[in-house]
Amino acid sequence: MKPNETSWSIPHDNQDLLDLTIDEWGDDHGLSAYNTPLRSDAFELSDVEKVAKIEHHFREIMETLGLDLTDDSLKGTPLRVAKMYVKEIFGGLNPANKPKATLFENKYKYNEMLVEKDISFYSNCEHHFVPIFGKAHVAYISSGKVIGLSKLNRIVQYFAKRPQVQERLTVQIAKELESILDTPNVAVVMDAKHLCVASRGVQDDTSTTVTAYYGGKFQEADTKSEFLKYLELSK
Ligand SMILES: [Zn+2]
Repeated sequence: MKPNETSWSIPHDNQDLLDLTIDEWGDDHGLSAYNTPLRSDAFELSDVEKVAKIEHHFREIMETLGLDLTDDSLKGTPLRVAKMYVKEIFGGLNPANKPKATLFENKYKYNEMLVEKDISFYSNCEHHFVPIFGKAHVAYISSGKVIGLSKLNRIVQYFAKRPQVQERLTVQIAKELESILDTPNVAVVMDAKHLCVASRGVQDDTSTTVTAYYGGKFQEADTKSEFLKYLELSK
């Protein structure tokens, strides 16, 4: 061994784990169940307790990375991240934050398709905890009830504010709309960029991922193509 060469090395098993973590694990983005995998005790801690706990652990992460937490710019970061996780970007984990759906009678007898398109959303990939962001397009055909347009937006935001995979996010939004509007005639298309693909891993900065859910009449070719024509995504 040369004098300046280190004798320290990562044990074989751990090296495997490192390689696997960086190159493969979580890059498949496979779909699990459509319910977010939450433990039954998920809400036993209050938000304040969660913020305190995450602050502590995020500080450990930053210190492990070698960052100087006495630096003015860094010292507030663990608390900022903890609040952001609990109150903002993962606030949709808590059913207490679910938007209340106010329904109205369909007094105009409007029985055509209603499309709300280009709803901006920000979510986070549950495999890497980096952003997924893009546009959601939702549509339904009324069964007699209609919903305020801003509610469609809020439902998208609620489910986006969870660690997610795009496929599950798409299905969760659709299932919620089916349940609130009491109709299977619901469609959701999401077109999003994944920073875990763009800024790391394969570093593809231009690709986007499109996922779709077509329920009830939207499975019929005419209805689906009418919807896609409104989105100008049919080509
Ligand atoms: Zn990812």
